[in-house]
Amino acid sequence: MTDTLDSPVVDETLDELRSWLTDNWDPDLTVAEWWERLGLAGWAAPTLPTNAYGRGVARSVAVQIQSEIAAHGALGGPSGLGLLLAAPTIADHGTPEQIDTLVRDIVTGQRSWCQLFSEPGAGSDLAGLTTRAVLDGDEWTVDGQKVWTSLGQTSDMAMLIARTAPDLPKHQGITYFAIDMHQTGIEVRPLREMTGHAMFNETFLTGARVPDSAIIGGRNNGWAVANSTLGHERAGLGSGGGAFGGMATPGTIAGQLPLRAGDFAPKPAGRSTPRDAPKKRRSGGSASILIGMAKGNGTITDPIVRQGLARLHSLGEIGRYNAERLKATRASGGDIPGMANISKLSMSDIVRLQRDLGLQIVGAQGMLHAYTPEQQKVNDEATGNPFLAMVTGTAMYAQAPPIYGGTDQIQRNIIGERVLGLAKEPSNDKVAPFSSLPKNA
Ligand SMILES: Cc1cc2nc3c(=O)[nH]c(=O)nc-3n(C[C@H](O)[C@H](O)[C@H](O)COP(=O)(O)OP(=O)(O)OC[C@H]3O[C@@H](n4cnc5c(N)ncnc54)[C@H](O)[C@@H]3O)c2cc1C
Repeated sequence: MTDTLDSPVVDETLDELRSWLTDNWDPDLTVAEWWERLGLAGWAAPTLPTNAYGRGVARSVAVQIQSEIAAHGALGGPSGLGLLLAAPTIADHGTPEQIDTLVRDIVTGQRSWCQLFSEPGAGSDLAGLTTRAVLDGDEWTVDGQKVWTSLGQTSDMAMLIARTAPDLPKHQGITYFAIDMHQTGIEVRPLREMTGHAMFNETFLTGARVPDSAIIGGRNNGWAVANSTLGHERAGLGSGGGAFGGMATPGTIAGQLPLRAGDFAPKPAGRSTPRDAPKKRRSGGSASILIGMAKGNGTITDPIVRQGLARLHSLGEIGRYNAERLKATRASGGDIPGMANISKLSMSDIVRLQRDLGLQIVGAQGMLHAYTPEQQKVNDEATGNPFLAMVTGTAMYAQAPPIYGGTDQIQRNIIGERVLGLAKEPSNDKVAPFSSLPKNA
């Protein structure tokens, strides 16, 4: 793995990328044509292994690659849960055929994905899921309900976990499928959030069909595969991490594949990491916009605001140091257990602090949330603050990070039980058949 920030190998990789971009980037290609080039060359999802359309680089190097693509003025790779979760999971557990079809379609933006994990009675206790899949010839029939399905309404494919052996203990009778969302047996109903968006959905599976060949990682082995997905989710969501992706949307439903790639590309900004230039330290990060706003309206003189800004800056820096520490440890063959959980917890703290500080800085204007672009225009003109929408949007979204990808409490349980070795809560659910366990009402 190409892992050390300043290593010559990273410089070589970035040099290779620059000359590849010079030869290949053409703003007049369609998004689909550009992503085909970018994805097949291993630049769309460079953290994937080399046998799965990636380059096997560390996340930090992938961030440098993404910056380099942007600095060249080219469109980055497809965004979304396909790239973030499905592709690395299939790369870890899928067959070569699954990698050649499913991962290929993700890195080239042809298909978008959602995650059919959570159910009304199974969120933190995900292994308690009751959606059932029953084998019927060489296909499975799936019945059940999922909830919180982010972007399910625009997804072509889903990572589905379903119970395939109710008489095995609950963690053992689960299978992981790659299911096609384009079928009458799957109904996706949007749920409107307080942000005004309807990103989530309830998903009803009624006689949905999925071929046996779409199992990822083996029958009844879905818990291990799902944990792999959740591991990639935490690593991508934590502080010091950072998901990567472009500004165009993948997939056949909301995808922008036939449009001109150049219309989605950033303006070239020169090299982000010139080879001979001293390495720049990232400043302030999330704190810098809030500092600018506080300076602008005078709240910077408020000692509570100043203290909050210093705390936000420090948390960002601690996240960055932790990411660097983990990277260096991994480069020398080690690991820091629990780091993904700690950085996800830290991200929850950072977003809550951004919410509280932002609202403190903008004061009463924080009540003016724009639900439409028209409302935002009116707010921008009335307040003269172009960042107000960011502050109110963050204030409403800040409740999400402490929940998704495993709640704060669950992260702490994991750290306590698996990292610190504290005693687990007594339970027989590892040995008793799932069918004999008491269920939620
Ligand atoms: C923005 C967002 C996007 C999401 N996207 C998706 C998606 O695309 N696909 C998907 O499948 N899911 C998705 N989820 C669902 C998410 O994974 C679940 O909400 C989460 O796992 C919590 O489950 P729950 O909502 O059922 O809460 P519950 O599990 O019912 O928990 C309720 C409360 O009890 C606490 N609790 C539960 N068990 C314990 C315990 N053992 N010890 C201590 N405290 C406990 C929890 O911390 C929480 O505070 C999303 C959620 C959010 C917020």
